[in-house]
Amino acid sequence: MSSTRVALVTGANKGLGFAITRDLCRRFPGDVVLTARDEARGLAAVQQLQAEGLSPRFHQLDVTDLQSIRAVRDFLSKEYGGLDVLVNNAGVAFQFGDPTPIAIQAEVTMKTNFLGTRDVCTELLPLIKSQGRVVNMSSGWGFKALESCSPELQQKLRSETITEKELVGLMNKFVEDTKNGVQRKEGWPDDNIYGVTKIGITALSRIQARKLSEQRGGDKILLNACCPGWVRTDMGGPKAYKSLEEGIETPMYLALLPSDAEGPHGQFVHEKKVAKWQFMPQFYPKL
Ligand code: NAP
Repeated sequence: MSSTRVALVTGANKGLGFAITRDLCRRFPGDVVLTARDEARGLAAVQQLQAEGLSPRFHQLDVTDLQSIRAVRDFLSKEYGGLDVLVNNAGVAFQFGDPTPIAIQAEVTMKTNFLGTRDVCTELLPLIKSQGRVVNMSSGWGFKALESCSPELQQKLRSETITEKELVGLMNKFVEDTKNGVQRKEGWPDDNIYGVTKIGITALSRIQARKLSEQRGGDKILLNACCPGWVRTDMGGPKAYKSLEEGIETPMYLALLPSDAEGPHGQFVHEKKVAKWQFMPQFYPKL
């Protein structure tokens, strides 16, 4: 087993995940694993980085497929005895105006963005080594969604004591509610499915950080959620105000927090600063 340090990025064949992987290859003192759900797209991305003189490794990873996640877990255990940096970047979003029924949009988006990321964490967080760093890609859209929730739901989702099981129950309930056409009645926003999945990511990050502090407090692991801002990618579209290079600044800052850093931990970080659970309209000028 190698004593080399290792960083892994999910959804790394394009967009922010690709740019984060490239920057990790340049700046992280260890191996970098580029993962993608589609092997051909992943290998093409690896080749692109190789052409730039960089040397990422590749592993297939579909965050919605438990077998695929467990294969990555076994690969990391066998080859590195753990994991030093995990960037949970993989995500999907339907474009505004997409005619796909709301219930299907909710199911698909939740499956990848929240449930998939949670499954990756369940399998890989136990591998995180001391002084490890975990970055969960959330979004300011989560704040907008949270503010549109009923006061009862907001209280539950903002709670400092909500458990992972309760959070998963709420996210699954959202999908069920959209299937039954009662999401608005049940206190959810009905026009911001993506945002609800990202509420889940931010709340999950708070829960996971709390657990790490309780169970492995001495290990100085730092786990945070972040928003990269509005970035020109396939998801963000051409009108977004940030370039890829600007968009990766906050996730890279969190992935490479120095070994003696005491924080941030369990926070939502935006523009490299801890942000409150509130929407930031200035970053979404079209709204
Ligand atoms: P993107 O260009 O659409 O890239 C998304 C990546 O996720 C792709 O590599 C995609 O793979 C991968 N992916 C999707 N489903 C997956 C699955 N089941 N398993 C593994 N990988 C999967 O999007 P992006 O803008 O770079 O976004 C990256 C992250 O940042 C997302 O979590 C997004 O929500 C978040 N974010 C983006 C913005 C923005 O303005 N762009 C703002 C806030 C937050 P395929 O190529 O195979 O589809």
